[in-house]
Amino acid sequence: MATDFYNDSLSAGCSIPPLVNRKTKSYPTKVTAGGITFGGSEVVIIAGPCAVENHEQLSETARMVKAGGASMLRGGAFKPRSSPYNFQGLGQEGILMLREISRATGIPFVTEVMDTRQVEFVAENADMLQVGSRNMQNYPLLKEVGLSHKPILLKRGMMATIEEFLLAAEYILSQGNDQIILCERGIRTFEPTTRNTLDLSAVPMLKHMSHLPVIVDPSHGTGHSWMVPTMARAAVAAGADGLIMEVHYKPDEALCDGYQSLDPDDFSQLMTSLRKVAAAIGREVM
Ligand code: PEP
Ligand code: MN
Repeated sequence: MATDFYNDSLSAGCSIPPLVNRKTKSYPTKVTAGGITFGGSEVVIIAGPCAVENHEQLSETARMVKAGGASMLRGGAFKPRSSPYNFQGLGQEGILMLREISRATGIPFVTEVMDTRQVEFVAENADMLQVGSRNMQNYPLLKEVGLSHKPILLKRGMMATIEEFLLAAEYILSQGNDQIILCERGIRTFEPTTRNTLDLSAVPMLKHMSHLPVIVDPSHGTGHSWMVPTMARAAVAAGADGLIMEVHYKPDEALCDGYQSLDPDDFSQLMTSLRKVAAAIGREVM
């Protein structure tokens, strides 16, 4: 029996905005960033430190994640820290360091923008712009990245519903940019043992409702490095088009989020098991 997509989604308690709606396109959107394609049959792995700290930390970590099988490097230079007294990131210097090390290592990178004034500079240098959880409803920023013609990694707000998440993507789409990857990174619930509650049901729901690729961040989604491999495998099994994970060459010395960062050995072991999970559902890890 044919299912009515609208009724189906409305019964899920959400109306789907027009441009992000899967019904408006006959095929899923593929997003290409730095030569890497998201939303095809391959599962793409993004890995790197929470924050760019210094040249050695970034170059060693980049080299190790590439050797372990990551296709893209992550690293924040403009950091949205909960406390103004915590390390705020290296700013423009960090972006230039990312660019240099990414080119030297041969791995493209994604990095966060927090403010409309940073978009032009970051867009000139990065392969993909990240809009973080705290800025998912920063509408001027969404419009600005929509005008940038760069691929956008849009993270789900920590208290955003699926509908609000899709509306944030709609802001970017409405500026003419359809190169958007949605990222589930956990939501706030009453549960304190994990940093966030990783909503893996968002993966099939977002793919059901929209034509955009969906990836998962099990690092911020759990807040515990020991949980990351399990939830990373679960995310791939749930149909995620990729993962973004925090990896640090010395997690104990990280200036930011070390407790949820994998070390390079754990990362490469995880990659081996992810390839098996992907194969079991007819996909490959890129
Ligand atoms: C990050 O990925 O560096 C980050 C700050 O994540 P989030 O916006 O999901 O908290
Ligand atoms: Mn982090």
